[in-house]
Amino acid sequence: MMTNTPRFRGGRARLAAMVLWYLAGSAVGAVVLAMGIAIFAADSNLVVRLQSTDAADRDWWKSQVPTGDRIDWRLRGRRRQTTFPGLEIVEYKAGAYSLETGQPETATATRVDAGWPFSCLTGSSWYLMPASSPPGSPIILEMNAFQFRTASGSRIVPWRPRPMGLLLDSIVMGLLVAIGPVGWLLARRIERRIRGRCPACGYPGVGARCSECGRVGQHSDPVQDDPDRPMLTREP
Ligand SMILES: [Zn+2]
Repeated sequence: MMTNTPRFRGGRARLAAMVLWYLAGSAVGAVVLAMGIAIFAADSNLVVRLQSTDAADRDWWKSQVPTGDRIDWRLRGRRRQTTFPGLEIVEYKAGAYSLETGQPETATATRVDAGWPFSCLTGSSWYLMPASSPPGSPIILEMNAFQFRTASGSRIVPWRPRPMGLLLDSIVMGLLVAIGPVGWLLARRIERRIRGRCPACGYPGVGARCSECGRVGQHSDPVQDDPDRPMLTREP
């Protein structure tokens, strides 16, 4: 075997570089798809449900709320979940007491997870009216997300990657992108074989070795067409 020749190692490094480039391209594709779904998901196809909140929702709120200097955050009512293939929008409402005035405050948050087939981006949008004295202006901010204005209104587009989701989406995206060219190459090889041409380059002739590109056929003849072999050993 020639596993240790520099040429083989170079080929392996080139293959690894190609795979890395392919995965990077697939990851970019997965992110673009996720953002595209978040922006362009048709309003008429969005499914809205009201659901009761659980411990996971409370944990999410407490770990994410950007206005933490309030007393006793509690989720209020149910969460409003809007879904579309590759998109999940969850709206929360919660109450707390202002540290400054002791007055009750209400905040809302919209959490957006996007990505297909798995959620690969996450982000949220917040709105809080502070019970300060004198009354101030509302706190409105996006966390790991940005607003995108469309004809039907404003959309929250998340950008923070979720590592596992991004990896899985990249693999799916890479496979989907590969199906087209690989299928075309396979079909071309089969067609060339049927027409008695070299499967690699299409040159006519079905010898053991293609005289055009040097490809050695899989079903070799008993006598190899080897240029190193002396002419005398050939059959007439
Ligand atoms: Zn050939």
